[in-house]
This record gives sequence, C-alpha cells and structure tokens, in this order.
Amino acid sequence: DRKKLSKLRKTPSITEDGTEIALLANIELPEDCAAAMESGAAGVGLFRSEFLFMGRTGVSHKLPSEDEQFESYRKAVLAMKGRPVTIRTLDIGADKPLDDAEQTALNPALGLRAIRFCLAEPQMFLAQLRAILRASAFGPVRLLVPMMAHSFEIDQTLAMIEQAKTQLREAGQKFDPLIPVGAMIEIPAAALTLPMFVKKMDFLSIGTNDLIQYTLAIDRADHEVAHLYNPLHPAVLYLLSSTISIGTKAGVPVAVCGEMAGDVRLTRLLLGMGLREFSMHPRQLLAVKQEILNSDLNVLAPQVKKILKSYDPVAIAEAVEQLRGE
Ligand code: PEP
Ligand code: MG
Repeated sequence: DRKKLSKLRKTPSITEDGTEIALLANIELPEDCAAAMESGAAGVGLFRSEFLFMGRTGVSHKLPSEDEQFESYRKAVLAMKGRPVTIRTLDIGADKPLDDAEQTALNPALGLRAIRFCLAEPQMFLAQLRAILRASAFGPVRLLVPMMAHSFEIDQTLAMIEQAKTQLREAGQKFDPLIPVGAMIEIPAAALTLPMFVKKMDFLSIGTNDLIQYTLAIDRADHEVAHLYNPLHPAVLYLLSSTISIGTKAGVPVAVCGEMAGDVRLTRLLLGMGLREFSMHPRQLLAVKQEILNSDLNVLAPQVKKILKSYDPVAIAEAVEQLRGE
C-alpha cells in the first residue's frame, strides 16, 4: 500500500473536476524538510519554530540567538528548493512549555502563551522576526502568527514586523519586503470575528487542534476527556466552514494545518467546505492526495452543505463516513 502510494509523489494534486489542491507539510525542525520533499509536498505550511526553543540543556540552555535561528530558517528555505516555507512565530506555553519547571500558570492553555508571550517579550520577538525576515532573502517565506484573538494583537504584530524591517534596512541586511503575513485561526473569538483578520492579513491558517480545544473546552492533552474531543461537533464544523468561506470570498487564502488536515476520513468534508490548502505531517500527505484524486467537488459541495445543517452528532458522523462511500 505504501509502495502504491509512493507512486503518487509526483502526481499533481487535482480533484476529478479539475480543481487544484495544495498539499503542504508540517515540520518541527529544518531536518524534517527531507521528509517533506520526499512526500512531494508543495511547500511547508507550518514550521513550528518553538521546537528550536524547547528542550535546550547545558550550554545551549539560553534561547536561540537571532543568528542561530536565522541559520535554521535558511536551512529549511534552501532544503525546500523554491517552495514556500511558512514559519510560525514562537508558540510557546501550554502543551509546548519552554521549560517544565517554569510552568506556573493556573491554566497554561489560557495563559501567557504564543503571541501573548511574544508581545510581552518584544526584544525576543524582534530577534525572531529579524531571523525569519533574513531567511526570506533565500527563497519564498511566509510569516504565520499563532493564537491571535484581539485587534490590538494584529496591529502590534504588524508594527513589530515593520520595526524589524527597519532595523534590517539600517543594518544593510536583505529580506523580502513583501513577505506575506498570516494569522492562525485557532481561538473561537478569531473565527467569530474573521472580517477583522481578513482586512489585515495576507493569508489564514486554521489550527484545528486548538480550535477544537477552545471551542469545546476540552484540554487537548487530557486523556480523561479525550472521548469528548470531537472534530465533528457541529460547533467546530460551523467555525471551520465559516472561516473557509468568509476568507475565500474576501480573496484571502485559507489553509488548515491542524491534525484534521491529515486525516483521510475528513479530506472530503474539508474539500466540500471549500478548503483548497491542507498542511499535515508528511507521512499523511500521499494518502490525502489519493483521496483528493478520487473526489468530485460538484458532488461533495451539496452533500457537505447538508451535513452543516445538522445538529445530530450521530447523523453527522455517518454522513461524513458516507462521503467516502462509493
Ligand atoms: C493547531 O492548533 O491546530 C496547530 C496546528 O498548532 P499546534 O498543534 O502546534 O498548537
Ligand atoms: Mg495551535
């Protein structure tokens, strides 16, 4: 089966009705680019940069310097040979602690994490932004910001990106002045106020792992409530489909980079919602591609529209299964 799938590596990812679907890879370290290229990914849709910051011991215990980060980002950009690399700024906290001993928040998932942490540590954030910008001189880079929910977070982040650009100009360093900037949509408030993001962002990427966690109030890492963590809850489906359709209508590309994007049982559901860009673990990519090659959007769209009208979890689960029926 693996062997059969590997034949699809170079096959264009196009539905039966001729719609092109972008399949990208999620990576944690630049070394993962080899697997991404091996899977035939069209680029990196999510580089979880926090992995450069985590688990550092001994002499390298300090945060990675701007130069060290730059080298890692450049390595990824070069390894992807002209394909876009979406670098997410530091998403530290909750399930991804900088240092276990430092985790003191009562509710880490609701605490000072991701963009909140970055805006509270402007020198650290500026160093990362400069490192990402410098890497953009070596190939197409997109800058993705996690956990945004508030209008001022968008404005402050964009202002800091401009500040980082000014610093680089003054230092005579090269970067892509038109680097696209996007927001993760993974807090329900963001999905519910999407026009606010669409106005100011170049692209959006839905983080379903956190979006499900925050919508259902289910800790994504707590085994005791894992059975309640349901990607097909009608509330989750509503937020997903409205984000995809509002973004797409406004001409702002929307991707999904959470686990849902790599689940072949959900590929057709997402296609029917209008999703055209998926980012996932490289190991899932060819199986998802196979699903896409056998899908017809003209058939799927009305079926999914019907599913989105249901509030019956059992009926929804059955209907989603039936999308793969024939
Ligand atoms: C997500 O929340 O879905 C996501 C892609 O980011 P992470 O899993 O790194 O929080
Ligand atoms: Mg997330």
